[in-house]
Amino acid sequence: MKAIIYSKALYSTWIYYAPDRILFDCGEGVSSLLENRVFAVKHVFLSHGHADHIAGLMGLINIRNNAMGDHEKELRVHYPAGSHFVSELIHYFARTNRNLQYDLEWIPLRAGDRVTLLAGRMPRYIEAFGTIHARGEPSLGYNVCEVRRRLRADYRHLPQEEIVALVRGGKKEEISEKYTQYLFSYGGDSVPLNPASVHGTEVLLHEATFLADEDRKEYKHATVWEALDVARKAEVEKELIVFHISSRYRGDLTSVARQIEAMGLPFAVRMIPPGELVEIE
Ligand SMILES: [Zn+2]
Ligand SMILES: [Zn+2]
Repeated sequence: MKAIIYSKALYSTWIYYAPDRILFDCGEGVSSLLENRVFAVKHVFLSHGHADHIAGLMGLINIRNNAMGDHEKELRVHYPAGSHFVSELIHYFARTNRNLQYDLEWIPLRAGDRVTLLAGRMPRYIEAFGTIHARGEPSLGYNVCEVRRRLRADYRHLPQEEIVALVRGGKKEEISEKYTQYLFSYGGDSVPLNPASVHGTEVLLHEATFLADEDRKEYKHATVWEALDVARKAEVEKELIVFHISSRYRGDLTSVARQIEAMGLPFAVRMIPPGELVEIE
């Protein structure tokens, strides 16, 4: 998994997920930091319409039109249906960007909607799920899903030669089953996610605006401890990445990281320091 993450609560959040050329949210500064890589972006998935998640759209849409690169590559921007702020922005772009050289498509999504990323033998798609954030502003999270095949449980104990023989004998469909693996789950801004929405994901991006519960005035965001709890209940396979951390905690992250390490969790935990660009290999 290759990703570039920038997140500072209130200011700007965006995540470039390279395997499927997706930009999750589009906070301020995204195009000046991604530079030529803006041309690689095929899809934008917005979690909600707050300024710290959409303010980079103006730059992204214009740079794709003006900088050196493929000016004809279409861009699809997905957003939660009914978002007031995004709807206003769509009007703005329709009036001010009449000379775009590429197709710019705005696609409203609802929880449960799917968007195909890749057709073929192992199809990949995005599945939107509901999150709870701010009153009056619909919000969504997104799972990157891959359809895979595995041996059915009652064949898994067989020795390799017998399985090979069954496959050669044309029994492949019979002894195997399709299943969906969540590869990457992005929760956007939200109170603790419903673990069922991201269950079994390899990598979970959960917001953690607060490190301490007493700092939270309104119930719109999560704490790092809640994010850990969600990841444990969701049985995250590889890594929990916490982002959207308030810059007030910049100096406290090392001690929190030590506390988390002492918990001995079955997955890795990475904190995105507010205001730092983090590249993940
Ligand atoms: Zn935010
Ligand atoms: Zn927000």
